[in-house]
Amino acid sequence: MSDGIRRLAAVLILLIGAALLWVAGLHSHDAESAKNELDSTVAYAREHSASNDPRLKGSSSFERGGWVYVHLEGDASTIGFQHGFLLANEIEDAFPAVQAAMLRSTKRDWPFFRQVAREMLWPKIDPEYQQELQGIAEGLNARTGSQLDVYDIVALNSFEEVPDYYVPWLNKREKVANAPNLKSPGNCSAFVATGSWTKDHQIVIAHNNWTSYMNGERWRVIFDIQPTNGYRILMDGFPGVIASDDDFAINSDGLMVTETTITQFEGWDPNGKPEFFRARKALQYANSIDAYTKIMLDGNNGGYANDWLLGDRKTGEIAQLELGLKAYKLWRTKDGVFAGSNWARDPRVLKEDTPEFNPNDMASSPNARRARWEQLLNENKGKIDVSLAQQMLADHVDSFEKKTQADDRTLCGHIDSTDRGVSVWGWEPYYPGGAVQGKATDSSMAKDMRLVARLGHPCGEDFLAAPFLAAHPEYAWEAPYLRDLKAGPWTEFRSGETHALAK
Ligand SMILES: [Zn+2]
Repeated sequence: MSDGIRRLAAVLILLIGAALLWVAGLHSHDAESAKNELDSTVAYAREHSASNDPRLKGSSSFERGGWVYVHLEGDASTIGFQHGFLLANEIEDAFPAVQAAMLRSTKRDWPFFRQVAREMLWPKIDPEYQQELQGIAEGLNARTGSQLDVYDIVALNSFEEVPDYYVPWLNKREKVANAPNLKSPGNCSAFVATGSWTKDHQIVIAHNNWTSYMNGERWRVIFDIQPTNGYRILMDGFPGVIASDDDFAINSDGLMVTETTITQFEGWDPNGKPEFFRARKALQYANSIDAYTKIMLDGNNGGYANDWLLGDRKTGEIAQLELGLKAYKLWRTKDGVFAGSNWARDPRVLKEDTPEFNPNDMASSPNARRARWEQLLNENKGKIDVSLAQQMLADHVDSFEKKTQADDRTLCGHIDSTDRGVSVWGWEPYYPGGAVQGKATDSSMAKDMRLVARLGHPCGEDFLAAPFLAAHPEYAWEAPYLRDLKAGPWTEFRSGETHALAK
């Protein structure tokens, strides 16, 4: 008997058992509880059978410090299957939260996003990543029987680019009446430093992710990806998404990557390639700053337009790639620092891609944090290392008011604490969002594929959902999804880990 037939027989036996249980159940329980028993037995049989799938060979997962670490290896379809299977529960939890936010902000329905995924995004994705996305849907289905298909997964992967970049472009073009006021998001505070700026003259790179707490509390995956083709990747990420997407990653050829988004960016190229696909491909195949830039520029669709901060540990060189759609600019140095907090600085990018952005409004979150980065990095020139980077990500100095108070202008953002919100990217007063996690690494850690990460506010403060919702009923729509975001400890991860050994 082949393995396949033996597995099928095992499932059949379980199903017959389940049916007998159900018939027996009719005598002692009501029909509904019998049905629940049948459902759970079928689910168990499905999961048990799927867990013997040969595609799972070599993959593994464990939790540490609040993070879920997954090791994925093989060809594209296999990596996808492992991703969908191992993170099935996390995907099923994250999908409705992301979907609810997308529908609410855009006033569009889910079939719209599926159509965009199928007709606009899918045809421009390389076959390798189409196979990986298909694999995610298959692995998810094998584990839970989920009804989500590959276009739902593609739409999920586009959650940082379609709602806030494509939809406003489309509304303007189609002159949609009463169109919602959508703005590109302001995600993150980050820097990369090298040469005389760092303690031992190697590269130090660090990033905290700014997003809604609802999404942020789910942005807790550490992906260790060992693909058949290309370089090995260690990155943080979101369940079901093939790119890091808040973008903090290293690859085995020495590339170190992060970004912050460009505030008030406008534009979209419907013929371009999805950003999530380019960002993942660049991580997997780029062996230099030039190679990374080339992949990001190839088919640039304007989605999720970022200021990319890059490092190459082989050369000690760092770079900032300000990737607008109509314009872009690359700065690079072997002795310097680049910071990011959601502002563009190249005159052409400012003029052509962010016409509404005012770089001189020092009260706004991006500019206030830019001023704080300059101050903090200059003060610490020559002393910067990973442990100092962790402190910087947790910084609570408001450079505009010259006070220490966690708010929208601090590197560790807490928007729920301020009645200002962040108008430049459409966050209302007391918006439940801010810095939701942080990561850092340096050249020598990157050489052994290591990074440190902290879930929750990098300062260690907890966000508690119940008192927040009681005080701010205007956010009641988030109640089904919003949970406590408790800070974990700074935790180290390394490629090739297979279980949660205490460090
Ligand atoms: Zn904080």
